[in-house]
Amino acid sequence: MSLSHPLTTTASLLALAAVGAATTAYGVMYPESQLFGSSLVAPPLPNQLALTFDDGPNPAATPRLLEVLARRKVRATFFLIGNFVRLEPALTREIAAAGHAIGNHTMSHPFLPKHSAARILSEIADANAVLEDTLGTPITLFRPPHGGRSPAVFRAARSLNLQVVQWNLIVGDWKDASVDTILSRLENGIVRNHLRRRGTNVVLHDGGQAGLGQPRLKTVEAVHLLLDRLPPDTAFVTPTGGTALWG
Ligand SMILES: [Zn+2]
Repeated sequence: MSLSHPLTTTASLLALAAVGAATTAYGVMYPESQLFGSSLVAPPLPNQLALTFDDGPNPAATPRLLEVLARRKVRATFFLIGNFVRLEPALTREIAAAGHAIGNHTMSHPFLPKHSAARILSEIADANAVLEDTLGTPITLFRPPHGGRSPAVFRAARSLNLQVVQWNLIVGDWKDASVDTILSRLENGIVRNHLRRRGTNVVLHDGGQAGLGQPRLKTVEAVHLLLDRLPPDTAFVTPTGGTALWG
């Protein structure tokens, strides 16, 4: 084997580094990536729909959302921020009492891959402790804030027996979208996944990382309208945290 020309070697190394960085970015950010560990993305059957709500509990939107879901007997999943659970324990228990699945969304909603392994573990472990103290039941589901995952995030989740849950539909509902925009993105996304013969796991927001009281009633109203328009064979599912994955 001959030695490569130094310039070619440098160019190859640069190219490799670029591929490496792109691959890492894919693994950390792409919602459906399985690069650094396994994440639950979407239910397998096209008529299955998992409604998931992040960044609560939020007294400005969660109670109305619970009414909307109860009206249609729909079971959803709530990924809660530990610091908000601490401030709103009664509302947290109300979500659980209504039969919804509850998951961990860290204490303070940082972008985890930027932080040390110790901080990653404490963000997730502390939120688990607050949730379990508030609800009296073990927590088995975890959604990383912003979907940010790294090997250390998966190690921490595994050490706490948490199933990482991502999504295959996101509609920008937290970016001041109108009710109509949120609704049409929801409907289009569900149809698109259906055409790919997959179910939908959509991330919506009944709260916001900036603090309690974020205005999220447009999200709630879009869900309200969606529930009246979905095909009658829609099966609402939640991640189980167990071997059945969805149920
Ligand atoms: Zn979030």
